[in-house]
Amino acid sequence: MNALKILEKLKKTHPNAGCELNYSSPFELLIAVILSAQCTDKRVNMITKELFKLYNKPEQFAELTLEELVPIIYSCGFFNNKGKNIIEMSKQLLNRYNGEVPSNMEELVSLPGVGRKTASVVRSVAFKLPAMPVDTHVFRVSRRIGFSNGSTVSDVEHDLCELFNDKYWNDVHHTLIFHGRYICKAQSPKCKECIIKNECKYFNNK
Ligand code: SF4
Repeated sequence: MNALKILEKLKKTHPNAGCELNYSSPFELLIAVILSAQCTDKRVNMITKELFKLYNKPEQFAELTLEELVPIIYSCGFFNNKGKNIIEMSKQLLNRYNGEVPSNMEELVSLPGVGRKTASVVRSVAFKLPAMPVDTHVFRVSRRIGFSNGSTVSDVEHDLCELFNDKYWNDVHHTLIFHGRYICKAQSPKCKECIIKNECKYFNNK
């Protein structure tokens, strides 16, 4: 399998692949990614459009109570947990990092509500550092194509990082997300219109 050729073909189908969350600072992106767990980017953008008009600095979020934050973010689901994490994460950013979002993986994942995937998205999108966040789309599409046979997110992340030079990681991440969102859908992949069907393990095994 020529993984790079497959990536180039996919990029032709998804020339605008990139982060669909709206943000204007690493801190805003971090908030948006925390809100996006189990929620669509479209919904998160509707929430943050209003939220960031009111608050967009760690100092402001650290002062909020959950009762003040929840009514603004409730439509993204898991609002209590997300709200608590956002407030506590803001306090820790202020206390430990002078209010600046760190770009280091270990420091990012040490913050409340920031798992490996969230940290990778922030590194990749806000700081343009090589990272391979594996979300539900990247996981599913990678396994269908045959980029990975891994059964866990960390297995797939490891396989993708082995398969591609780190200069392609951000492209791989965004392109596979777009492919999963718009073509290689979970329930009914649109294989007939897929530009890589001839190279795809799932299609060839059907
Ligand atoms: S051929 Fe089908 S399963 Fe394979 S990547 Fe394309 S849409 Fe997904």
